[in-house]
Amino acid sequence: MRDNDNQEDGRNLSRRRFLAGTAATAALPLAAQPALGQGEVCEAAGVDCGAVAEGSNGMVVSVSPAASEVGAQVLRDGGNAVDAAIAVQFALNVTQPHSSGIGGGGFMLYYDAAEDSVEIVNSRERAPAGATPDMFLEDGDPIPFDERHTHGNAVGVPGTASGLRRASARYGSRPLDELIDPAIDLAEGTEVDRVLAEEIEKNEWKLNDAAREVFLRDGEALAEGETLEQPDLADTLRLLRDRGIRELYEGEIAEALAETVQDAGGSMTTEDLCRYKATINEPVQGCYRGAEVYSMPPPSSGGLTVIQILNLLAGFDLGETYDVRSGTKYHLLAEAMRLAYADRGEYMGDPEFVDVPMEGLLDPAYVAERRELIGPDALNGDPQPGDPWAYQSGDAASMTQETPRALGHTTHFTVADAEGNLISYTTTIEQLFGSGIMVPEYGFMLNNELTDFDAEPGGANGVEPNKRPLSSMSPTIMARDGEPFLTVGSPGGPTIITSVAQTILHHLEYGLSLADAIDEPSIYAPESPAITLWEESIPEAAREEAAVLGNEWSDESGPIGNVNMLRADDGYEGAADQTRDGLAVGLDEE
Ligand code: GLU
Repeated sequence: MRDNDNQEDGRNLSRRRFLAGTAATAALPLAAQPALGQGEVCEAAGVDCGAVAEGSNGMVVSVSPAASEVGAQVLRDGGNAVDAAIAVQFALNVTQPHSSGIGGGGFMLYYDAAEDSVEIVNSRERAPAGATPDMFLEDGDPIPFDERHTHGNAVGVPGTASGLRRASARYGSRPLDELIDPAIDLAEGTEVDRVLAEEIEKNEWKLNDAAREVFLRDGEALAEGETLEQPDLADTLRLLRDRGIRELYEGEIAEALAETVQDAGGSMTTEDLCRYKATINEPVQGCYRGAEVYSMPPPSSGGLTVIQILNLLAGFDLGETYDVRSGTKYHLLAEAMRLAYADRGEYMGDPEFVDVPMEGLLDPAYVAERRELIGPDALNGDPQPGDPWAYQSGDAASMTQETPRALGHTTHFTVADAEGNLISYTTTIEQLFGSGIMVPEYGFMLNNELTDFDAEPGGANGVEPNKRPLSSMSPTIMARDGEPFLTVGSPGGPTIITSVAQTILHHLEYGLSLADAIDEPSIYAPESPAITLWEESIPEAAREEAAVLGNEWSDESGPIGNVNMLRADDGYEGAADQTRDGLAVGLDEE
């Protein structure tokens, strides 16, 4: 365990001078949560919160008002950003059980102000030892996604609880059990919000009996405003609090979990659970317009691909040259995305199993070579992977294209504390409600993360025992002159990467405020199929302009991503994407 004592250097002292002080004591009444998005309740409670909030002493931004408030209370009580993040994750398991929780995994990116370092707590799920390369094939063809994502074979060995335990031991200042308590209270009864109500209705078809018991009443999906009661989950959280997190990996919860997965046709055993341990990793680091970008390396494709897209675009001076809603801007964005996604599909996988040419992919000379393939006046009709190995020593690994998969949705949140510590944390059970499988009598949903593997074996991201599937999650922290100033992240499967890149672009290149950068419509352009998804407010004229160059747009628009972010300058500003009613809560000195 690492010493938690702060090392005070000049830089951190200067941050403390403007951030330090006694935490405000005002707390939001939990009963008032459903109305929090409207702002009045925040004001009435004397708390700076809403879609956008400011705070000199701390910040929590999450998709769930109740979870944001839980994190803010931990900060008010003197906990640090990691303590608050742990409490937020447990609370999200309860209020947003369709998106993340102890049955899933995630990436916590942590800037430690005292150490002046960025580290990752990596709780990505792993394939069990019994996983086989062809387990998603039938008669040589991929099993249809709807079928394979609800099968026990889709469930990865969950990492979130192990990650929270590691984060607490390494960086936390409060006992872990205290940080579980607020979630236990919420599990006794919390109000169903708009998004959860919609998702229960849409995903009812795949919920197992245990989950139906929780999310339906008299056979009807719970509606917005109804009370969600999760007594089994409350008991499970009590077990974790009282007996420790290992209970999920070695105790009665582990036994129930393995049995549930096996009943659903999977191979997971208690040995797989016992063996699981979240890892501590270094971030991938790049530069963009004079700022440092810290993000998630493989087994996520997120960091490398975000940094590649930004650097491909840096050569076009977008902000100076093209209107933020012009056809040429969207064209160049789509071109950069398609090239970056071609490399992603070819070269990225779990680095414990495949060599990923990380330096080559980010080498400025390689990026410049790739940039030559795109321009404002013509379409690169056939985006192919490049040869980043030529820019890096080492042998090329064998690779293949990633097979298309459905877009899922997870959740991203961010925390800052009075010491200047920052958290950028993307956390998931993969698809909404994961596999649809709840562990009976234990009340938590199991992920379907293993569908992030290619269904077809042989490539960088093929299934192998104990391997981690390729992610797109891109929790990111940016710094200038060594001083962190921005956190950003999003859910959305492979669209995460483009949401994060575009939000950064909109804020830094086009100078939009955090809220406007989030609201500014975005696109998603994979290399295959080469059809660009788009958000509603993209002007028709701009789409037509890009179409003239050969860009093909999807017939319908739709929301892409759900970005939560914060900025650290003289104090903090936080912003929550309103496509899912998120809430930023700022803390001030008293
Ligand atoms: N499983 C996805 C990934 O790791 C995250 C879930 C989602 O948002 O789709 O990239």
